[in-house]
Amino acid sequence: MITPSLPPEALDRLPGLAALGRTTTRLHPRRGEVGVDQSHIGGPLLWPADEPWPTCDHPHMVREEVPIPTDLLDRMRAAEARRTSAHVLADGEAELHQEIADLVGPGFTGWGAVDGGPPGGYRHGPRPHSRPNPMVALAQLRADDIPDLPRPGGADLLQVLWCPFEHERENVWGPTVRLRWRRESEVVDLLAEPPKGDVGEEDYLPQPCRLHPERVVEYPFPQELPPDVRARLDTWQGDGSGYVGLFLVPGWKVGGYANWSLTDLGATPCPDCAGPTDLLLVIDSKEYDGGTRDRWRPIEEQHLDWGDPGRFEAQEPTGVQVGRWGALRIFACLRCPDTPFLLNQQ
Ligand SMILES: [Zn+2]
Ligand SMILES: [Zn+2]
Repeated sequence: MITPSLPPEALDRLPGLAALGRTTTRLHPRRGEVGVDQSHIGGPLLWPADEPWPTCDHPHMVREEVPIPTDLLDRMRAAEARRTSAHVLADGEAELHQEIADLVGPGFTGWGAVDGGPPGGYRHGPRPHSRPNPMVALAQLRADDIPDLPRPGGADLLQVLWCPFEHERENVWGPTVRLRWRRESEVVDLLAEPPKGDVGEEDYLPQPCRLHPERVVEYPFPQELPPDVRARLDTWQGDGSGYVGLFLVPGWKVGGYANWSLTDLGATPCPDCAGPTDLLLVIDSKEYDGGTRDRWRPIEEQHLDWGDPGRFEAQEPTGVQVGRWGALRIFACLRCPDTPFLLNQQ
């Protein structure tokens, strides 16, 4: 697939930026049949018959409901009736909310009624899997197809698996992730039938997608720019949001720069050596949206207008949704043995 090119005058407006360009490979996943020897999302992995399939034994987060006693509910309703405006709490209402939070205890995440039932308080707490949970194949990436995929230790294949539940880990709420780097030529006997695990979140089950890799150049997030270029950007436009949409690639991609729009620039030290890591893979809930479609919608899909039923399959081909329509990013250290990595979610 082909991304429309950057308007040539865009770089002229920010002298010094052109030299900071870095390649990334847009994966351009789109629904389709996928084979074991291809790069894909949500397809079968080239996995040796004699190698154990990865499992997750990290506790996952479950929602528990705690009933609210009748007298507390009565006091809540009485307080709500005293409100003079629908959106302003009555005197004493905040204290009643605190009483519910105390009642529900650690892990309190809110309260309310579900499906017309009585209101309850909710908390999230860790619960172990009933058995080590076989992971789901998320992606298989061949270095021969994806020019920006690194080849640590001579590997030419990266397999990404995850456990499709919510877990709380390293401040990221989401699936646990496993990376397996290998050489294709070393896989001789294939595992016939990978074990099937339990699924906590349908949003973490990828639809099979073929990849249509395309190498493009992108530029640093504003907070990563050197001071002189940053100053020019600040003069050019107030908040830099137009810059991000123009210069940073959305969607699934390998390599390049990370977009930090949600949290501001964060640290991504290697978990082993604490040194710098590189952006390895972005798992994105969408390929482009209303704000980025004009710049990043592939030329092949320019004909899809807003009402076209094919639009959703183009914009959200994988069915994977992370965070609140956000992106899960994997940063890896290519200097340490075994390529340690960390996750960051936006
Ligand atoms: Zn798990
Ligand atoms: Zn390291």
